[in-house]
Amino acid sequence: MTHSVIDLRSDTVTRPTPAMLEAMFRAAVGDDVYEEDPTVRALEQETAARFGLEAGLFCPSGTMTNQIAIKAHTEPMSEVICEQTSHIYLWEVGGIAFHSGASVALLAGDRGRLTAPQVEAAIRPANVHYPITRLISLENTHNRGGGSCYAFSELAAVAEVARRHQLPLHLDGARIFNALVATGQDGREYGRLFDTISVCLSKGLGAPVGSVLLGSRAFIEKTKRIRKVMGGGMRQAGYLAAAGLYALEHHVARLADDHRRARELSTALTACPHVAEVLPVETNLVIFRLHDQQPAAAFLAHLKQHGIRATSFGPQLIRFVTHLDVDDTVLARVEAALATL
Ligand SMILES: *Cc1c(COP(=O)(O)O)cnc(C)c1O
Repeated sequence: MTHSVIDLRSDTVTRPTPAMLEAMFRAAVGDDVYEEDPTVRALEQETAARFGLEAGLFCPSGTMTNQIAIKAHTEPMSEVICEQTSHIYLWEVGGIAFHSGASVALLAGDRGRLTAPQVEAAIRPANVHYPITRLISLENTHNRGGGSCYAFSELAAVAEVARRHQLPLHLDGARIFNALVATGQDGREYGRLFDTISVCLSKGLGAPVGSVLLGSRAFIEKTKRIRKVMGGGMRQAGYLAAAGLYALEHHVARLADDHRRARELSTALTACPHVAEVLPVETNLVIFRLHDQQPAAAFLAHLKQHGIRATSFGPQLIRFVTHLDVDDTVLARVEAALATL
């Protein structure tokens, strides 16, 4: 193990492993705008099958898959119900307003998680003054919520509300595989609840690029034009899709190791005198709050001296993320650095 920089900022910082690169080199490719790339097609079908949905659309990013889904589900002057710290609202550059001309009904969740009664109360009655509610969007695991997972019964309850009001239900599943591994569930159970799911391959799964939007065959047909207008039509994208296929096969079960290491980091942080509170760790994200007199910037500077990078989430908040490049040796180095604080 070289003493290279330890990067805990995000699970997006990983580089392809040699075996993943090998799979990419070997990919059969074609022009995907002409729908002639067999590897892209295989990735779309494989991802859809994992969630029991009909079809998939390979895109460069999770921002694009989310925003395409929102645009396809809504129209200008309509509204999306989502959590106030959700990625689609907070971290996609105002894309809901920009791409879809839609409004948002922002709800305050419990570490990002909404309840069915909360969602139902936010559905607008028919009235000329209101935007028309067109979409309910959930995020699982929840990023800003510290990798929190929904209980499946709560998701089912929200899905029941959506069905009763004939509203589509979208899932920002950037880290859905973390949720599946943490809860021991099968993606097909999720596919029964959600109309559309956005799945990231470039987070914990360790692919260099890519997300897949899942939905019905008719819905995915409709999204192809939206991907094109956003500039997301890619050509020999099979080289990238091959990384995603490799990740689905080899990098899902190992997410349990990321979760264990995140819990170990949580234990080390709890023992650290500068740390006031660590959010409960359910998956691979560890968000913690420092004591009032301890600014995040100074804490991060100290970590940097030990060759460790992390992200500040506010004046007193810091996030650590475990991923493919954080093995037990790296973990021990982080724990040793924390012990010197
Ligand atoms: C990372 C992430 C996305 C997508 O991000 P991209 O960088 O655009 O791929 C979407 N939702 C959540 C919750 C995320 O964490």
